[in-house]
Amino acid sequence: MSRYLVVGSGLIGRLLSWRLVIEGHHVDILSSDDAIGRDSAGYVAAAMIAPATEAINADLKVQALGQYSLALWPEWLKALPETVFYQTHGTLVVAHAGDKTELQRYRRRAQHILGAESYTDLNQIELAAREQDLADNFEQAMLFEQEACLDNRHLFRVLGDVLRQHCDWQQCDPIESLSEFTIESHSQQYFARSAQTYDAVLDCRGNGAAQDVDTLRGVRGEIIRVHAPEVRLKHAIRLMHPRYPLYLAPRPNHEYVLGATVLESDDRSPVSVRSGLELMSALYSLHKGFAEARILDMAAHCRPALTDNMPVIKRRSWGYQLNGFYRHGYLFGPAMVEECIKRLSGRTDQLLFDQYYE
Ligand SMILES: Cc1cc2nc3c(=O)[nH]c(=O)nc-3n(C[C@H](O)[C@H](O)[C@H](O)COP(=O)(O)OP(=O)(O)OC[C@H]3O[C@@H](n4cnc5c(N)ncnc54)[C@H](O)[C@@H]3O)c2cc1C
Repeated sequence: MSRYLVVGSGLIGRLLSWRLVIEGHHVDILSSDDAIGRDSAGYVAAAMIAPATEAINADLKVQALGQYSLALWPEWLKALPETVFYQTHGTLVVAHAGDKTELQRYRRRAQHILGAESYTDLNQIELAAREQDLADNFEQAMLFEQEACLDNRHLFRVLGDVLRQHCDWQQCDPIESLSEFTIESHSQQYFARSAQTYDAVLDCRGNGAAQDVDTLRGVRGEIIRVHAPEVRLKHAIRLMHPRYPLYLAPRPNHEYVLGATVLESDDRSPVSVRSGLELMSALYSLHKGFAEARILDMAAHCRPALTDNMPVIKRRSWGYQLNGFYRHGYLFGPAMVEECIKRLSGRTDQLLFDQYYE
């Protein structure tokens, strides 16, 4: 059994701590966040696990790493004490008649990057068979079957409960910079231990690690959560639009997460009127049943991103930094967490991951 100190209790901190506990290790958690995780990007996120539709706007690396995680998620969720909503119907990509060229452009990119076999074209009748509620508004769709999404806030709660049972978890003031000195003083203050007690410290502070990660930047994203009893969509939906493309991620009980803006900014202030209007107009254009939906939450956060928008596991004298998950924490999280745990135990056999390890 090894002893680890995990700093940060957002998405990656929770997943990593949980998997270390499962492997039989002792884990202390130190975070400026509350137990719910309200300060983390992972709590705000739509939690789409979309290796293909994300790769189309990036490259094949996204698909490779994403598929690795997609294979792990069902197995990981099964190991939790509660069933967390995990939707595997796939993603439908649609565009209004006036924006057909956007869909054509997306299809061309899909063919170029992933190949024509990566999706299925649906005509209006085929779309109606899958998602009756969309067929009135859209004549065609592209279906990407190998995609999923999950209920991130439920996942956070369940992981929080499990971790509080098995770990010593302390809320602290933000730790701006991790060094031998700050680790020593925090481990003494919060756990009455010496830093020497730990085999490694694992830095999962996301945006909070900006002082220690030179190229880290925030990419602001805004989402709206709604309850729409008149809407029955089971797929994740991407609406192609020249100005504000959006996605809709279903949750249980007619709840939906609508997102997300992508703004190069570290600004974490509340959702702007402009973004709210754009997101909600697009939502209403998707399905008229959203007119009577109730807004449950409007939230903004920043995605922690590195120069190439890909994640990294970076070796430090005291342990590892896991960062740069950008808009792919759910898409890349399991793959990178599993790889980090392998590195900690001196194992690694995956060429796939070498490029994400420094
Ligand atoms: C609007 C939006 C939509 C998104 N949608 C998706 C999606 O559909 N699919 C997907 O895969 N990804 C999505 N993401 C991205 C995903 O949320 C992030 O990639 C992921 O949350 C990053 O995980 P993390 O643990 O590194 O950071 P976070 O989840 O932000 O966690 C960081 C944790 O560290 C704590 N912390 C920060 N600073 C300090 C400090 N100084 N000292 C101590 N503790 C600290 C924080 O309080 C927090 O608990 C989305 C993000 C946003 C903002």
